[in-house]
Formats: sequence, structure tokens, C-alpha cells
Amino acid sequence: MSFSTLGLNDSLLKAVSELGYQTPTAIQQKAIPVILSGKDLVAAAQTGTGKTASFVLPMLEKLNPGEEPFLLRGRSIRALILAPTRELALQVEANVKAYAKYLNLSALALVGGSDIELQKQQLVKGVDIVVATPGRLLDMAYQRALFFDDLEILVIDEADRMLDMGFIDDLNKIIDRLPGNRQSLLFSATLTDEVRYLADTVYDDAVEILISPKKKAAPSIKQWLITVDKDKKSALLSHLINEKRWNQALIFVEKKHSAAKLVEQLGKRGIVADTFHSGKSQGSREKVLADFKSGKLQFLVATGIASRGIDIQELSRVVNYDLPHPAEDYVHRIGRTGRAGASGEAISFVSKDDFKNLCAIESLLGHIIQRKEIEGFPVRKAVPISILNYRPKRH
Ligand code: AMP
Repeated sequence: MSFSTLGLNDSLLKAVSELGYQTPTAIQQKAIPVILSGKDLVAAAQTGTGKTASFVLPMLEKLNPGEEPFLLRGRSIRALILAPTRELALQVEANVKAYAKYLNLSALALVGGSDIELQKQQLVKGVDIVVATPGRLLDMAYQRALFFDDLEILVIDEADRMLDMGFIDDLNKIIDRLPGNRQSLLFSATLTDEVRYLADTVYDDAVEILISPKKKAAPSIKQWLITVDKDKKSALLSHLINEKRWNQALIFVEKKHSAAKLVEQLGKRGIVADTFHSGKSQGSREKVLADFKSGKLQFLVATGIASRGIDIQELSRVVNYDLPHPAEDYVHRIGRTGRAGASGEAISFVSKDDFKNLCAIESLLGHIIQRKEIEGFPVRKAVPISILNYRPKRH
């Protein structure tokens, strides 16, 4: 199947082809016709499947004014995409702009941490597509910087993450303000009971698409783990970077302060790295991400906040320096590599204390992760082999 059979206009086809997309991914093949037909949609698709284009392309097709620009009313918006994190919102905005390159449509990201007055000015004449995090959007609505009467399409992206992050009240407040005759689309990595409940309150009779009903890692990602004593982790990481001549790695740690500590430890061994976490200003987060994407910075030490919303075309390696908790985050983290069919590797450092966490991750994956031993790093405290039907207790 090619993009040209999906009912998209030539300007969109040109933009997509310039980005090097040859065939639509599974979610794009299924979602684009449904969205073009005007139906509501609930889709289970993980990040990395091409889901952003699956809603942005038909949205642009529907909003496309043709020759004459659409006359926007002041402070009005025509489509709203809600995303859980600033990074994801900015990433989606960049995608919208890239796909809309040859169309007469405007897009704006409304996220916290950036100048609210400037954002208000950008809304004065109205904007076709707003991509927002829920908190900043509500702020803007309360301040009457935008209104929703002309809204045609609502997208809730990464709905499961939104709920995990406690955005349900904000979401309900936003939804209450939207006109009833809009089209609504919801995307989520998994359709949990909570997500379905949210979907039921938002949509009538939505079409449901399941691309990845069970959370599984993309097969193009090689996963392996190294058991290591806690106090040897930074030495092991430096050893791998130097010995294997790694040119790039996104390294996940659990806490902000451990990110700074690890960067310092790597620095002592001559390896330049930087941190990425919620304690940094929006400006420095964007800068460090841009440097990492361009290859200027080879090693980025990040907390879980980065596990969604970072889309780096050719990220070859993710390291779980600390194992993530809950287990679902493992899938999101390693999904930063091997995107859209490219190959990648995900390496996890596991210490004895991580045993339960490892059981939870391997049970979720449905298989044991291959173990590798690294010469010079014998373990004092061995990590047993997991029990695969392990169910973590709810906290
Ligand atoms: P997403 O799941 O939206 O985060 O997209 C993952 C990555 O796949 C992004 O880098 C997109 O630019 C890329 N992508 C999306 N659709 C296609 C396609 N049809 N062919 C190749 N790459 C794609």
C-alpha cells in the first residue's frame, strides 16, 4: 500500500515523501481512513509505530483550506492535540509543521516553562492547530487567551500516560469546555480499564483500532542485561563506552541527583555526558536534547521524564543504568531506540536488589532477557533467574 491510496492531498504526499516515508505503517493504514470519514477513534498504538502521522495527516487533510486561507476568528483554534509532557508536545508540533510544510495552516505548542505572554500574542489572530500540555492549556483558557467554540478535532495522545501523571481532572475540565459536535481521537499505548473509561466519557460510538494490544518491545531492538554489583555500575558503563567504542547512548537513571553524580563519574574517566531531567529549565532541556540529537553530545543521562517524547531518528542504544519502575516504563524507555523499524540495542544493568523489578519486567515481556557477562566485572551478589508469572503488588 502507498500513501497515495489513502485520500491525502498532493501537498501532504509531497511533504511525507520528502521525509522519506515510503509506505504507511499499520496504524496509519488503519487510522487515516477512519479519521477522514469523520468518525471518533480510540487506538492502541505505542510510540514508534508512526502514530503521530496517523492522526496529524488526516487532521491536516480535513483542516486544509485549499486556495483561500480559512478565516480564523481571533483567539479561536480548530484542532487541539493534548500531550502529557512538554517534550512530546514540542515533538508533535514539529511533526505538524513538517507535514503541513506545503499547506496554509498554522500550528502552535502551548507548554509550561515557556513565555506565556508570547504564547498569548501568538493566539490573538487564532491558530489552526494547538498542541498543548493540559496545565498550560487550562491556564490559557482561564485567562481567556483562547476559546474553543470553533474546535473541530480533539486528540488525546498517550492517554495512559496522562492518567498515570494525574491529569484526569484537568482533562475533564478541558473536555467540559469543548463543543459537542467535534471529532475526538484518543491514542494510548495500552487500553487499560481507566483509559477505556475515559474514552467512554469522551466519545460516542468510537471505532477501536488495536495495533499493539499487549505491550511488547519492537522486535528490532536487541535486549540484553548485565548483572553487576551496585558499586561497580559506573565503572562498567565507562568500560563499555570505551571498549565497545560506543558513539551514542541514552542512559536512564532513577533520580535527578544520580544523573548529576553519574555525569561526574563519567567525566573523571574522560567521558563527556550531560543530564536531562525535570529539574532543568525548559531552555536547557531543549538545548541538551538538540545537542544530543545532532550528535554534538554523545551521552545523555536522563530520568524517566525523557522516556516519552524523545524521538531521535537513529538512536542506536539505550542503557537502563537503573532498572525502571513500574515495569511498563521499561517498554517506553527501550522504545527510544529501534524506532520505525531501525535497529537498536537496549542494555540493562541489574543488581541483586533489582530482582523483583526484573521479574516484573520479564513477566511483562513474556520472556527472559538475554544475559551477558563482561570480563573484569564478576558479581559478588548473584541475581537469580526470574519467575515469569510474577505479579507486582499494587502500591
Ligand atoms: P511515532 O510513533 O509517531 O512517534 O513515530 C516514530 C517515528 O517514525 C518518527 O520518527 C516518524 O518520523 C517515523 N515515521 C512515521 N511514519 C513513518 C512511515 N510511514 N515511514 C517511515 N517512518 C515513519
